[in-house]
Amino acid sequence: MDARAPVERLRIGVMGGTFDPIHHGHLVAASEVQNVFGLDEVIFVPTATQPFKKGRRVSDPEHRYLMTVIATASNPRFSVSRVDIERGGVTYTVDTLRDLAEQRPGAEFFFITGADALAKIMEWKNTDELFRLAHFVGVTRPGHDLTIDIGAPRDNVSLLSVPALAISSTEVRERSTQGAPVWYLVPDGVVQYIGKYGLYRETAR
Ligand code: ATP
Ligand code: MG
Repeated sequence: MDARAPVERLRIGVMGGTFDPIHHGHLVAASEVQNVFGLDEVIFVPTATQPFKKGRRVSDPEHRYLMTVIATASNPRFSVSRVDIERGGVTYTVDTLRDLAEQRPGAEFFFITGADALAKIMEWKNTDELFRLAHFVGVTRPGHDLTIDIGAPRDNVSLLSVPALAISSTEVRERSTQGAPVWYLVPDGVVQYIGKYGLYRETAR
């Protein structure tokens, strides 16, 4: 081995989310960013349970974690991390990135978010540390404009158009509550998991 050869840094994508449940919109976005940015791995990070998200109860973190594992298991470049679940409390992206950086010293991180979530991140005050920890990749999401005015260092944010899937976890939950099919909106194993545990049977709002 040539000792002078530059050390290749691992390129790691991070996709944080509630994943209640994970759906094909999440998976297509992660897959596209993995390919375009030549990522070695994409880590999905389910949030800890926050008492309320937009006024509704969020499913148990273990259910959300297991559905995320089921959905990503067949992709050798996808993995799932429990850092946010283990830390507990309110999940802040800065903590997620700090914990992952500790676990993977020297890696270069790419935080993947839909246009809706990216717009919120850009409103935060202390974005300096976030931009030191990761490059941000905003992906298209139907109904949310990607052409936001980024008042942040532009070399730290990339916008990417991905094959748009108008799927949201909210819609999957509502359909499950109504007894409408969710086949093909989420991976087969997730359809079966929702049925097995009777998730979203009760109206969640
Ligand atoms: P909910 O309807 O409960 O808010 P969600 O579908 O928005 O759920 P989240 O877990 O909130 O899913 O999203 C995690 C991340 O995935 C966010 O960055 C979000 O912008 C992104 N995302 C969600 N759905 C899509 C989609 N269809 N296309 C692209 N990105 C998406
Ligand atoms: Mg959302």
